[in-house]
Amino acid sequence: MTGQTLEQKLIAKAETAHQLTKMEIVHLLQAVGAEDDLAKAADRVRQIFVGDGVHLRGLIEFSNICRQDCMYCGLRRDNHKIERYRLTADEIVCLAQKAEGYGYQTVVLQSGEDLYFTAERLAEIIRRIKSMDLAVTLSVGERSFDEYKLWREAGADRYLLRIETTDKSLYESLDPGMSYENRVRCLMDLRALGYEVGTGTLVGLPGQSVTSIAEDILFYQQLDADMVGIGPLIPNPDTPLGKAAKGDFHLTRRMVSLLRLLLPEANIPATTAMETMVPRGRELILASGANVVMPNVTEGDSRRKYALYPGKICVADTPAQCRSCMGGRIKAMGRFVASDKGFRHHRQVQERS
Ligand code: SAM
Repeated sequence: MTGQTLEQKLIAKAETAHQLTKMEIVHLLQAVGAEDDLAKAADRVRQIFVGDGVHLRGLIEFSNICRQDCMYCGLRRDNHKIERYRLTADEIVCLAQKAEGYGYQTVVLQSGEDLYFTAERLAEIIRRIKSMDLAVTLSVGERSFDEYKLWREAGADRYLLRIETTDKSLYESLDPGMSYENRVRCLMDLRALGYEVGTGTLVGLPGQSVTSIAEDILFYQQLDADMVGIGPLIPNPDTPLGKAAKGDFHLTRRMVSLLRLLLPEANIPATTAMETMVPRGRELILASGANVVMPNVTEGDSRRKYALYPGKICVADTPAQCRSCMGGRIKAMGRFVASDKGFRHHRQVQERS
């Protein structure tokens, strides 16, 4: 068609072929003002490949104790200002029971890298939760193949481990003491063990280039990631990156839409960090290619103490309020809360249309 801009041509190519070159991805990531066109195309692809259902995953933040020292994260080992907490096994299982009562199909167990939770301790918690009718997603950081194996055998279904950035030297400068190769090893082990694997990018890390963000997207395609969760950096004053610039919301939104176009079957959350930056940010992202929301199921003071960054939304709300608020907002968009467990759709590209 004549009269199309280069951006429109690239978006049309991504919508039909689900492939772009690195340079084409860079072009669209940099296309300020193209976010609405990208979002419309991503929304169409989202409807064809994963439908109108929005999957709610109940997030249980069970410990903010962490052995790592990531420069951006409020849970980092060297942050002495944060009040630390750790829930007991009974408290975690009780939150999962309540999550089931609110109608959630999945709970996400997330924490800092807290080695109090040995492989066996966490496996026992997983077994107790799996005796309910719930899918279990883990997000507890880097462990060995054998630990991941034990949790998989205990019934864990999915694992979230953001790569944060595929720029190895940037990764290693912002995550001191951690190695990029080990992060990738973890993702490969999780894949080999049959987990649904979730990963993602922290957008706006100081020194992160748009080319490296394009390489992140190609990495997710190559990994065939089942879930990709991305969010903008929100500087935390109690960390070395306290004075860094915020991640760019519009760039993050363009990236979400590109992810949907290039990984059409993936589960893509509208993350809490997006709404911390922009009111109603999660609806905007749900309309830009996303199909998952992770409302917080953590109760009381722990919700406030799990302080990755300042200004975290809904810290004063109860889990019941979060559930009904999100349900109402999803309905108002003409979408619905999915009633299945929301495992990844494996639909072949050829089957479309
Ligand atoms: N420890 C586990 C891990 O590393 O995967 C799970 C918990 S970790 C705190 C969860 C995610 O929080 C990280 O992957 C990171 O992307 C995000 N995060 C940490 N600090 C942040 C900040 N200041 N702004 C936005 N996101 C942040």
